[in-house]
Amino acid sequence: MKKVEIKNLINQYVKEYSERKEIESKWREPIVKFANANDEMFIKLKEIVSPTHALPEDFLDDAKTVIVYFLPFDESVVNSNLKGKYSSEEWAKAYIETNQLILNLNNHIKKKLSDLDYRSTIIPATHNFDEGSLISDWSHRHVGYIAGLGKFALNNMLITDKGCCGRIGSIVINLKIKPSQRVNNEYCLYKSKEICKKCVQRCVNNALKVDSFDSHKCYEILLYNDELHSDLELTDACGKCCVNLPCSFTNPVDEKVK
Ligand code: SF4
Ligand code: SF4
Repeated sequence: MKKVEIKNLINQYVKEYSERKEIESKWREPIVKFANANDEMFIKLKEIVSPTHALPEDFLDDAKTVIVYFLPFDESVVNSNLKGKYSSEEWAKAYIETNQLILNLNNHIKKKLSDLDYRSTIIPATHNFDEGSLISDWSHRHVGYIAGLGKFALNNMLITDKGCCGRIGSIVINLKIKPSQRVNNEYCLYKSKEICKKCVQRCVNNALKVDSFDSHKCYEILLYNDELHSDLELTDACGKCCVNLPCSFTNPVDEKVK
């Protein structure tokens, strides 16, 4: 299977998923990138993220490629979360539905590859982290950076060519695919020109500062939102520092790229 076929497979699946009657959320067209499973950056994540951060080969002994994709939320989902201190119902729902979409999409990719005698390992979209340290053993955002999906921003998100409002999924496969090019330039206005900082102003619990991030203060809000939306499954999400920003839907440093 070629790169373009995998991209089409993912795009088509997400488009059809959005159109299902039982699905309330909508997504824009995904961005799909590929990392070499033996990229030396994966080992560096043991220093950068956590000593227990997994390697692709921990999931699949003959891992060749990691497919990483960004599922950008539709504007309606993003705009629903502009007002108030707590996450909107639509944002909370989109969080749950996107996690499920990632699982279903990965199963779909796995099945298609298995038909061609390739193997793959599915990684959950979230909740693969240690609740004490709040550190993930597989950081989709860091893996996204390795694959060239975007660049880390002041709000700790990865800004992609379609902004930072959405979720990242990944799957490890034993099919060799030419890796995508990693991003070198900055996508965040603060990192690029020391301007903006709008995400810091938008933080609802003083967790995000220009020079620090208090993950426990942030997690407090996430858990409150989960209680607030107790009729839904686990919704430990907030997203206030992602919406109503120059980087919500695009790379603001290079607005020509969409
Ligand atoms: S709001 Fe501005 S400073 Fe914050 S992440 Fe986006 S571009 Fe960077
Ligand atoms: S997710 Fe919410 S609490 Fe956490 S840093 Fe962003 S705005 Fe602040």
